[in-house]
Amino acid sequence: MVIVGAGQAGLQTAEALRSGGFEGPITLLGDEPHGPYHRPPLSKAWLAGEMDAAQLVMRAPEMLAKKGIELRTDAAVQAIDRAHKTVQLADGSRLPYSGLVLATGATPRALPLPGADAAGVLPLRSRADASAIAERMAGCVEKNLPVVVIGGGFIGLEVAATARKKGARVTVLEAAPRLLGRVLAPVLSDWYAELHRSHGVELVFGAQIAAIDTDANGVRGVKLADGQVLPAGLVVVGIGVSANDALALQAGLACDRGIVVDACGRTSDPHIVAAGDCTARRLPDGTLLRLESVQNATEQGKSAAAALLGQDRPFTATPWFWSDQYDRKLQMAGLSTGADRWAVRGDMAAGTGFSVYHFKDGRLIAVDSVNAAKDHLQARKLLDAGVSPSTEQAADGGVDLGSLLS
Ligand code: FAD
Repeated sequence: MVIVGAGQAGLQTAEALRSGGFEGPITLLGDEPHGPYHRPPLSKAWLAGEMDAAQLVMRAPEMLAKKGIELRTDAAVQAIDRAHKTVQLADGSRLPYSGLVLATGATPRALPLPGADAAGVLPLRSRADASAIAERMAGCVEKNLPVVVIGGGFIGLEVAATARKKGARVTVLEAAPRLLGRVLAPVLSDWYAELHRSHGVELVFGAQIAAIDTDANGVRGVKLADGQVLPAGLVVVGIGVSANDALALQAGLACDRGIVVDACGRTSDPHIVAAGDCTARRLPDGTLLRLESVQNATEQGKSAAAALLGQDRPFTATPWFWSDQYDRKLQMAGLSTGADRWAVRGDMAAGTGFSVYHFKDGRLIAVDSVNAAKDHLQARKLLDAGVSPSTEQAADGGVDLGSLLS
């Protein structure tokens, strides 16, 4: 078995193949210099300097060796030859496969603006990216230069929170009228805006960026469409990612803004499966779902391994995700797209622990909990079981929503 991409999904698939009884050789090919590592801390504890390199490692090389998984780092795959069932590596060598796993992740979208390639304009995806941001951020703190974050999504906001923690001046530029507008209820977007403002972050909504202002040292500022220039010693670009589906496209696999897979991780080739951020899952109603989360990479990895072993293990559980900003943990369950009503449970103003319940056509579709782990776990059970409280029940802290499950 050959796995392309030694990240969350690639590692999970390799281990699930072994635990699922596959006894032949497994090769895990990664194009980074490191073996599999945790990405979520890159915008949180790792960026804040609160974690050492060993804690970032997902599986020690000895452990992989013990499981008979051969890890090859700095081993980028350049092409797939489906007719001969081989992959071609950057060094020109070829590796045969009986089953192939594509777990190539995603690439941050680049800012399509003049000056965007200047030193100090940085994306955040890899350990190398995080180290470069940390170094430049330290320089900003030392010289009192502002950090500008482009994009008020999860990565941008986590970076903003970490930068404040490190003592940097921070401005977040968001094109939309609110933060995390595609996923959060308006009331929670406003709450997050207030949280960031209370920590000293400047937020600009409806921001239209014209160019990155540069000098010989790289970035000097961000030029807005109205001519205003915001000074910056570091610009972090967090405007979303694109699935790494180029290999699959070249090989003629069905792709649609991601490698198209079914609920079991199968692609349009019976010998090739895919998992994680590189995929777009076909739902029963024909629509495509792209998820970028640890849970999705892990569960799709398990499903993909099962598919290669001839078993059906569809991943249909409720999606969940988390984000840490300051001392607040947001935990999200379900998909909130299309919500038309919301109910808040708990004291949002005190901010000590509350949840926002999303409803569509009177049915519960998602729940976002802030410092309310119990609500989150209960929400996953409700959503998995297809059980919906009414909006009144959801908003009434005196109603035990768990009782609806029995
Ligand atoms: P990756 O982990 O990106 O692994 C893919 C690997 O494949 C990479 O190493 C890539 O370099 C390699 N590769 C690509 N092409 C090739 C090739 N041709 N040959 C060989 N190797 C190749 N999710 C959460 O649920 N909660 C969070 O709080 C959270 N925070 C995050 C914070 C940051 C800063 C980032 C970047 C992501 C965060 N995520 C979070 C998302 C989560 O980390 C990803 O969804 C997850 O890592 C996806 O796993 P993956 O295996 O699909 O991709």
